[in-house]
Amino acid sequence: MSKVVKAKYTAEAVPGFTHRTALEEAARCLLCHDAPCSKGCPAGTDPAKFIRSIRFRNVKGAAETIRENNVLGGSCARVCPYDNLCEEACSRCGIDRPIEIGKLQRYAIEQEKLFKMKTLKAPSKKQAEKVACVGAGPASLACAAELAKAGYKVTIFEREEKAGGMLTYGIVPSRLPQSVVDHDIAQVKGLGVKFVFNTEAKAEDLEAFDAVFVGTGLWDANLPKLKGAELKGVYSAVDYLKQARTKKKDFDPGKRVIVVGGGDVAIDCAVTAKLLGAEDVRILYRRTIEEAPANINEFHYALSLGIGITTGLYPVAAIGTKTKMNKVEAVGFYDKKAKAEFSCDALVFATGQKPEDQSAYGVDVNEKGFVKVKKGGKAGGKFFAAGDIVNGGKTVVEAVAEGKEAAASIIAYLEKKGVK
Ligand SMILES: Cc1cc2nc3c(=O)[nH]c(=O)nc-3n(C[C@H](O)[C@H](O)[C@H](O)COP(=O)(O)OP(=O)(O)OC[C@H]3O[C@@H](n4cnc5c(N)ncnc54)[C@H](O)[C@@H]3O)c2cc1C
Ligand code: SF4
Repeated sequence: MSKVVKAKYTAEAVPGFTHRTALEEAARCLLCHDAPCSKGCPAGTDPAKFIRSIRFRNVKGAAETIRENNVLGGSCARVCPYDNLCEEACSRCGIDRPIEIGKLQRYAIEQEKLFKMKTLKAPSKKQAEKVACVGAGPASLACAAELAKAGYKVTIFEREEKAGGMLTYGIVPSRLPQSVVDHDIAQVKGLGVKFVFNTEAKAEDLEAFDAVFVGTGLWDANLPKLKGAELKGVYSAVDYLKQARTKKKDFDPGKRVIVVGGGDVAIDCAVTAKLLGAEDVRILYRRTIEEAPANINEFHYALSLGIGITTGLYPVAAIGTKTKMNKVEAVGFYDKKAKAEFSCDALVFATGQKPEDQSAYGVDVNEKGFVKVKKGGKAGGKFFAAGDIVNGGKTVVEAVAEGKEAAASIIAYLEKKGVK
């Protein structure tokens, strides 16, 4: 990857607020007594409180409010679907337009980093019990941070060489720069949480721990039946995105790329291909654009980069030689007689993820392989679970909320155990 291409791939798509624009935006806030924006956040962020702090130029206070509630406040500020959450609930919607809560959160966390503010502190009193977290994605990071704040010794086992899960290996850096993810992870490390990388946790690794949290996410691809699926150039979305993030110089995104799917993941794949230099990129979605689950702003962004979108078709065969595919055959989803062919040397399936085998972790799974839990992420005995591996794949902020809830259950479990 040349320096120019890399700069394009990692450059942020949306600029943040300056001091002046942040203060102007904060001044629009009505400081509502009942703060409906707060109820709109799955993780319980209190925008009214941190926006008030920004308004009174207490940016450290704002960053503290955000971090105390959500250790991944920087990442969530970039990737949360605000328009369906806090901003949709904002009282100003009834007047003109909602407060840009996400961008104000981003501003506070950017200032935290710029001025090296210390916003979280590990307690001096330590508990005797040890907790293991499997996976270093948002669910585990949030769970680990809550436990560390309560004085527990936490070790996270992660099979990759870096923490962050989909934040580090999935979401495209033009939406979520790696430096933002790393700064969030530094807050978790600052609380004393220990990380063991390049380690796929085994049952025996977990024996010495008093409680175990499973936050392994969804890393197996849900690939539809396809003739020629074994050809070089056919990828799952997560493989494609991960290779783009990790292989750097050696990654060839393809010249003509077809991405199959209609969600945010499909858009991230198409944007990745385009920013890495693919000449012709097209999203192929079997239903209509109105039915596509991706955020409409993300579709606009993809269109602005020159990415094409074709609806009503799905692929049935990849065609080419053993070493390289060169075209894909598609048929109609609504119009059964419709047929089309597209030249392409990379075909990326963004058609969903499924769980891997979780049998090492003493947890029960349902018929689809998701971990079964009771309220508070209780999965039986000393095991707890949350995030995508439980909810089937939702959002970062929901993984954070569930990870925090599981931490509260783990604390209750350990306190009860300690009394006996
Ligand atoms: C391309 C893409 C774009 C997305 N865009 C958005 C978005 O814009 N906004 C949004 O809110 N959400 C988005 N999501 C969804 C979001 O990323 C997930 O909901 C969230 O990351 C789930 O967190 P998690 O901790 O449950 O799992 P993950 O993030 O998947 O983390 C799980 C971690 O566990 C590790 N692991 C797995 N098995 C083991 C094992 N046996 N031992 C040790 N480690 C293990 C994995 O390596 C990984 O690091 C996107 C997802 C993808 C794929
Ligand atoms: S609902 Fe909107 S206007 Fe009211 S406190 Fe929240 S952000 Fe401010």
